[in-house]
Amino acid sequence: MAGSDSTRFIFVTGGVTSSLGKGIISASLAKLLQSRGYSVTIQKLDPYINIDPGTLNPYEHGECYVTEDGAETDLDLGHYERFLNVHTSQANNVTTGKVYQSVIEKERRGDYLGETVQVIPHITDEIKQRIKLLGENNEYDFVITEIGGTVGDIESLPYIEAIRQLKWVMGSNSLVIHLTLIPYLAAAKELKTKPTQHSVKMMLEYGVQPDILVCRTEKPLNDPLRNKIALFCNVEASSVIESIDTNSIYKVPLLMKEEKLDKVVLKMMKASSRKAPNLKKWEQFIRRLESPKSTIDIGLVGKYVELIDAYKSIIESLIHAGTENNCKVNLRLIQSEQLDEDNLHERLDGLKGVIVAPGFGDRGIEGKIMAITYVRERNIPFLGICLGMQCAMIEFARHVIGLPEAHSTEMKPGTPHPIIDIMEDQKKVHIKGGTMRLGAYPCTLREGSRVHEIYGQQNISERHRHRYEVNNLYMDRFEQAGMHATGINPESGLVEIIELKSHPWFIGVQFHPEYKSTVDKPHPLFIHFVKAAKKQK
Ligand code: GLN
Repeated sequence: MAGSDSTRFIFVTGGVTSSLGKGIISASLAKLLQSRGYSVTIQKLDPYINIDPGTLNPYEHGECYVTEDGAETDLDLGHYERFLNVHTSQANNVTTGKVYQSVIEKERRGDYLGETVQVIPHITDEIKQRIKLLGENNEYDFVITEIGGTVGDIESLPYIEAIRQLKWVMGSNSLVIHLTLIPYLAAAKELKTKPTQHSVKMMLEYGVQPDILVCRTEKPLNDPLRNKIALFCNVEASSVIESIDTNSIYKVPLLMKEEKLDKVVLKMMKASSRKAPNLKKWEQFIRRLESPKSTIDIGLVGKYVELIDAYKSIIESLIHAGTENNCKVNLRLIQSEQLDEDNLHERLDGLKGVIVAPGFGDRGIEGKIMAITYVRERNIPFLGICLGMQCAMIEFARHVIGLPEAHSTEMKPGTPHPIIDIMEDQKKVHIKGGTMRLGAYPCTLREGSRVHEIYGQQNISERHRHRYEVNNLYMDRFEQAGMHATGINPESGLVEIIELKSHPWFIGVQFHPEYKSTVDKPHPLFIHFVKAAKKQK
């Protein structure tokens, strides 16, 4: 709880180019403040017109991250949760689509009583209200709001204007951190500050003076350079923060601590310092991450493997689980669409464990099924996630139960053996956005099962994002053949987990464990999957 102080608001903007790591800087600052005893939440404002990224192709925007309360959100929210170990919610991701939808609904209801509805003040008011919403009830000492995109983009303008107004009203209860790039010109052997000066100038044109500059760079910034940036951008030299390239996002909080980003923030916001940052656990994680005792090769079979952002949470979960097991996970990304009988062995050879990824649609399905036959027959540890679990059921039905035409009705609506079928309450759904089975649902584990042992408890809750499910009419045949439904939703009877008894480690989950793995609390399924992989000869 925020003591006598009211909630403080920190805005994070980006200049010069995208991909500077605003999300990681926001999460790192939040981590530092949290480690000093403050409660913090982080919010992402995305300037695109989609209501949420749920309808976006992963090629466009990477993974769609799902919160406990079922929001389909930007992948940065995954970083926020992985760093802070605190849940985010619907309110933590705002898009231009959501803002406009709400304003237009109000207009139709007559809420504006004859006014002309305009970007300023109506859209900006809606943005401000959504930022301030997280500060209500003084639940948080700090709300960090990251603004997607780059300053100068037409679509970010209303967001920058909203910040300008909030900053004007809130005074030292608010602060703007601007992320920029200091490029190194190899030919001149020099770091260049001009792009930073220009992007601050652009902020000034919009009426916003950044308070702190976080400068992304591949070489250390020396004092003369810091002083130059400070002088030309109207900030204190101590507010010029170096953000040097590093090989792991998890090192950024420590780098920001060295640069005193949290100290500068607290001082500028006149916040009383509660205690020195305690990052012991985090540092211990980094030490283990840096000095693994072994290396194992794990395969990830999916159709978006050219783009690692599409599987962000799975990849991070494997890093957490590897560290927990004192080993480095070498990830081999395998394009399911390209797998065939001829190259299967060569592509999967040497893997100690295989994950088959979530996904939608027909593309690459047969490759996923082929990979599952391979690992099932060779006793290689297997974790199937969502579509990956559904593929494991199809594979087993075809090759063990003896139903060669078994399929999911998602891929083959007319299949004579629909062992995966659309969920009953999805049949009447015709609108695509936000209508899947989303968010956290309870699951009861079968006593004596492998997952029961892994979780160490009988009732769990995991997050979902799907429309199809195991067709319970076939479950008896699966059970008889040795594939067991060891996790069931206690209310609907939906199969949430399947496992093979005769295999050393073969588990499929209808939910997404990767959304809940954090540095503080690596997910038990990933920990045990890596542990099983480590045992593989
Ligand atoms: N396409 C499958 C379904 O809708 C699986 C979804 C997923 O993997 N997230 O049920």
